[in-house]
Amino acid sequence: MSFNVSENIADLKATLPKSVTLVAVSKTKPESIIMEAYEAGHRIFGENKIQEMQAKYEALPKDIEWHMIGHIQRNKVKYMASFVSLVHAVDSLRLLKEINKEAAKHDRVIKCLLQIKIAEEDSKFGLSEPDAEALLASEEVQMLQNVKIIGLMGMATFTSDMAQIDSEFKQLAGFYEKLQSAYNFSELSMGMSGDYEIALKHGSTMVRVGSAIFGERN
Ligand SMILES: *Cc1c(COP(=O)(O)O)cnc(C)c1O
Repeated sequence: MSFNVSENIADLKATLPKSVTLVAVSKTKPESIIMEAYEAGHRIFGENKIQEMQAKYEALPKDIEWHMIGHIQRNKVKYMASFVSLVHAVDSLRLLKEINKEAAKHDRVIKCLLQIKIAEEDSKFGLSEPDAEALLASEEVQMLQNVKIIGLMGMATFTSDMAQIDSEFKQLAGFYEKLQSAYNFSELSMGMSGDYEIALKHGSTMVRVGSAIFGERN
Protein backbone atom coordinates (compact mmCIF):
# COMPACT_ATOMS: atom_id res chain seq x y z
CA MET A 1 0.00 0.00 0.00
CA SER A 2 1.35 3.44 -0.80
CA PHE A 3 0.92 6.25 1.67
CA ASN A 4 0.28 9.87 1.01
CA VAL A 5 1.67 11.46 4.14
CA SER A 6 0.29 14.95 3.63
CA GLU A 7 -3.18 13.59 2.88
CA ASN A 8 -3.10 11.35 5.94
CA ILE A 9 -2.10 14.29 8.14
CA ALA A 10 -4.82 16.49 6.70
CA ASP A 11 -7.44 13.76 7.20
CA LEU A 12 -6.35 13.16 10.77
CA LYS A 13 -6.29 16.84 11.66
CA ALA A 14 -9.78 17.22 10.26
CA THR A 15 -11.06 14.60 12.71
CA LEU A 16 -9.17 15.81 15.80
CA PRO A 17 -10.65 18.51 18.02
CA LYS A 18 -8.68 21.75 17.61
CA SER A 19 -7.45 21.58 21.19
CA VAL A 20 -5.78 18.20 20.65
CA THR A 21 -2.11 18.08 19.66
CA LEU A 22 -1.05 15.62 16.99
CA VAL A 23 2.40 14.13 17.54
CA ALA A 24 3.43 12.51 14.25
CA VAL A 25 5.46 9.47 15.28
CA SER A 26 8.29 9.28 12.74
CA LYS A 27 10.47 6.61 14.39
CA THR A 28 12.31 4.44 11.82
CA LYS A 29 11.13 6.71 8.98
CA PRO A 30 13.70 8.52 6.83
CA GLU A 31 14.15 12.27 6.81
CA SER A 32 12.62 12.56 3.32
CA ILE A 33 9.32 11.21 4.62
CA ILE A 34 9.38 13.54 7.62
CA MET A 35 9.91 16.41 5.19
CA GLU A 36 6.70 15.46 3.38
CA ALA A 37 4.82 16.04 6.60
CA TYR A 38 6.84 19.20 7.28
CA GLU A 39 6.01 20.61 3.85
CA ALA A 40 2.35 19.88 4.56
CA GLY A 41 2.72 22.22 7.55
CA HIS A 42 3.28 19.74 10.35
CA ARG A 43 5.88 20.64 12.99
CA ILE A 44 5.53 18.17 15.89
CA PHE A 45 7.26 14.80 15.62
CA GLY A 46 7.78 11.94 18.06
CA GLU A 47 10.71 9.55 18.20
CA ASN A 48 11.45 6.68 20.56
CA LYS A 49 15.24 6.48 20.32
CA ILE A 50 17.33 9.40 21.49
CA GLN A 51 20.19 9.07 19.03
CA GLU A 52 17.86 8.67 16.06
CA MET A 53 15.99 11.78 17.19
CA GLN A 54 19.27 13.67 17.59
CA ALA A 55 20.40 12.79 14.06
CA LYS A 56 17.05 13.92 12.64
CA TYR A 57 17.13 17.11 14.72
CA GLU A 58 20.54 17.96 13.29
CA ALA A 59 19.52 17.26 9.69
CA LEU A 60 16.06 18.83 9.60
CA PRO A 61 14.59 22.35 9.96
CA LYS A 62 15.03 23.87 13.40
CA ASP A 63 11.41 24.88 13.88
CA ILE A 64 10.43 21.24 14.37
CA GLU A 65 9.31 20.34 17.90
CA TRP A 66 10.82 17.00 18.86
CA HIS A 67 9.02 14.81 21.40
CA MET A 68 10.76 11.85 23.02
CA ILE A 69 8.00 9.26 23.41
CA GLY A 70 10.04 6.14 24.20
CA HIS A 71 11.63 4.60 27.24
CA ILE A 72 14.84 6.43 28.17
CA GLN A 73 18.27 5.31 29.31
CA ARG A 74 19.68 7.91 31.64
CA ASN A 75 23.11 7.97 30.01
CA LYS A 76 21.53 9.22 26.77
CA VAL A 77 19.61 12.18 28.17
CA LYS A 78 22.57 14.44 27.38
CA TYR A 79 22.08 13.91 23.64
CA MET A 80 18.62 15.51 23.64
CA ALA A 81 18.80 18.03 26.46
CA SER A 82 19.60 20.99 24.22
CA PHE A 83 16.55 20.65 21.99
CA VAL A 84 13.87 18.17 23.11
CA SER A 85 10.54 19.88 23.56
CA LEU A 86 8.59 17.29 25.57
CA VAL A 87 9.63 14.02 27.23
CA HIS A 88 6.57 11.74 27.39
CA ALA A 89 7.78 8.73 29.32
CA VAL A 90 9.36 9.76 32.61
CA ASP A 91 9.03 6.80 34.95
CA SER A 92 11.46 7.39 37.80
CA LEU A 93 12.89 10.04 40.07
CA ARG A 94 16.40 9.12 38.93
CA LEU A 95 15.48 9.84 35.33
CA LEU A 96 13.78 13.10 36.24
CA LYS A 97 16.89 14.21 38.14
CA GLU A 98 19.10 13.35 35.16
CA ILE A 99 16.87 15.36 32.80
CA ASN A 100 16.98 18.25 35.29
CA LYS A 101 20.78 18.11 35.49
CA GLU A 102 21.26 18.07 31.72
CA ALA A 103 18.61 20.76 31.15
CA ALA A 104 20.44 23.02 33.60
CA LYS A 105 23.60 22.79 31.50
CA HIS A 106 21.65 24.37 28.64
CA ASP A 107 19.81 26.79 30.88
CA ARG A 108 16.51 25.20 29.85
CA VAL A 109 13.36 23.96 31.56
CA ILE A 110 12.39 20.66 29.92
CA LYS A 111 8.72 19.76 29.94
CA CYS A 112 7.96 16.19 30.99
CA LEU A 113 5.04 13.81 31.37
CA LEU A 114 4.93 10.96 33.86
CA GLN A 115 4.23 7.62 32.22
CA ILE A 116 1.59 5.69 34.13
CA LYS A 117 1.33 1.95 33.70
CA ILE A 118 -2.22 1.20 32.65
CA ALA A 119 -1.64 -1.87 30.48
CA GLU A 120 -1.77 -5.44 31.64
CA GLU A 121 1.44 -6.42 29.88
CA ASP A 122 4.61 -6.65 31.94
CA SER A 123 6.51 -5.30 28.96
CA LYS A 124 5.01 -1.84 29.33
CA PHE A 125 6.84 0.70 31.43
CA GLY A 126 5.40 3.26 33.79
CA LEU A 127 4.71 4.24 37.35
CA SER A 128 1.85 2.94 39.43
CA GLU A 129 -0.62 5.59 40.53
CA PRO A 130 0.62 5.62 44.16
CA ASP A 131 4.24 5.90 43.00
CA ALA A 132 3.36 8.77 40.67
CA GLU A 133 1.55 10.58 43.48
CA ALA A 134 4.48 10.09 45.82
CA LEU A 135 6.90 11.38 43.20
CA LEU A 136 4.82 14.48 42.49
CA ALA A 137 4.42 15.26 46.19
CA SER A 138 8.06 14.79 47.08
CA GLU A 139 10.02 17.84 48.11
CA GLU A 140 12.95 16.65 46.05
CA VAL A 141 10.90 16.85 42.85
CA GLN A 142 9.45 20.21 43.73
CA MET A 143 12.98 21.56 44.12
CA LEU A 144 13.98 20.64 40.57
CA GLN A 145 14.28 23.93 38.68
CA ASN A 146 14.96 22.68 35.16
CA VAL A 147 12.10 20.24 34.61
CA LYS A 148 8.38 20.88 34.61
CA ILE A 149 5.90 18.01 34.83
CA ILE A 150 2.94 19.12 32.75
CA GLY A 151 0.85 15.96 32.69
CA LEU A 152 0.61 12.21 32.19
CA MET A 153 1.15 9.67 29.44
CA GLY A 154 -0.09 6.11 29.07
CA MET A 155 -0.18 3.22 26.62
CA ALA A 156 -3.06 0.78 26.56
CA THR A 157 -2.61 -2.97 26.29
CA PHE A 158 -1.92 -4.21 22.76
CA THR A 159 -5.20 -6.01 22.19
CA SER A 160 -8.18 -6.04 19.86
CA ASP A 161 -10.44 -5.95 22.93
CA MET A 162 -11.75 -2.39 22.63
CA ALA A 163 -13.55 -2.63 25.96
CA GLN A 164 -10.26 -3.27 27.71
CA ILE A 165 -8.57 -0.32 25.99
CA ASP A 166 -11.56 1.82 26.89
CA SER A 167 -11.32 0.89 30.53
CA GLU A 168 -7.56 1.52 30.67
CA PHE A 169 -7.87 4.99 29.13
CA LYS A 170 -10.80 5.75 31.40
CA GLN A 171 -8.69 4.80 34.41
CA LEU A 172 -5.84 7.07 33.29
CA ALA A 173 -8.22 9.94 32.57
CA GLY A 174 -9.68 9.61 36.06
CA PHE A 175 -6.23 9.74 37.60
CA TYR A 176 -5.33 12.76 35.46
CA GLU A 177 -8.46 14.60 36.60
CA LYS A 178 -7.67 13.83 40.19
CA LEU A 179 -4.24 15.48 39.92
CA GLN A 180 -4.86 18.13 37.31
CA SER A 181 -5.64 21.17 39.43
CA ALA A 182 -3.18 20.40 42.22
CA TYR A 183 -0.28 20.12 39.79
CA ASN A 184 -1.47 22.47 37.07
CA PHE A 185 -1.47 19.72 34.45
CA SER A 186 -2.28 20.61 30.86
CA GLU A 187 -1.46 17.47 28.86
CA LEU A 188 -2.80 13.93 28.83
CA SER A 189 -0.87 11.98 26.18
CA MET A 190 -2.81 8.88 25.19
CA GLY A 191 -3.87 7.30 21.94
CA MET A 192 -1.99 5.81 18.97
CA SER A 193 -3.05 4.81 15.45
CA GLY A 194 -5.23 1.93 16.60
CA ASP A 195 -6.85 3.51 19.63
CA TYR A 196 -6.75 7.30 19.44
CA GLU A 197 -10.50 7.59 18.94
CA ILE A 198 -11.07 5.83 22.26
CA ALA A 199 -8.45 8.05 23.88
CA LEU A 200 -10.15 11.20 22.59
CA LYS A 201 -13.44 10.06 24.07
CA HIS A 202 -11.71 10.05 27.45
CA GLY A 203 -10.19 13.50 27.13
CA SER A 204 -6.76 12.92 25.61
CA THR A 205 -5.08 16.24 24.77
CA MET A 206 -2.23 14.71 22.76
CA VAL A 207 -2.28 11.71 20.42
CA ARG A 208 0.87 9.95 19.20
CA VAL A 209 0.14 8.61 15.74
CA GLY A 210 2.68 6.82 13.56
CA SER A 211 1.51 4.10 11.19
CA ALA A 212 -1.78 5.81 10.31
CA ILE A 213 0.30 8.70 8.92
CA PHE A 214 3.49 7.11 7.63
CA GLY A 215 2.43 3.52 6.95
CA GLU A 216 3.57 0.37 8.69
CA ARG A 217 7.09 0.23 10.07
CA ASN A 218 9.46 -2.53 8.95
C1 LIG B 1 5.43 3.79 18.09
C2 LIG B 1 4.70 4.51 19.16
C3 LIG B 1 3.49 5.19 18.90
C4 LIG B 1 2.82 5.20 17.55
O1 LIG B 1 2.34 3.94 17.22
P1 LIG B 1 1.39 3.72 15.93
O2 LIG B 1 0.62 2.50 16.29
O3 LIG B 1 2.29 3.52 14.78
O4 LIG B 1 0.53 4.93 15.79
C5 LIG B 1 2.91 5.88 19.94
N1 LIG B 1 3.45 5.91 21.17
C6 LIG B 1 4.60 5.29 21.46
C7 LIG B 1 5.13 5.38 22.84
C8 LIG B 1 5.27 4.57 20.48
O5 LIG B 1 6.42 3.94 20.78
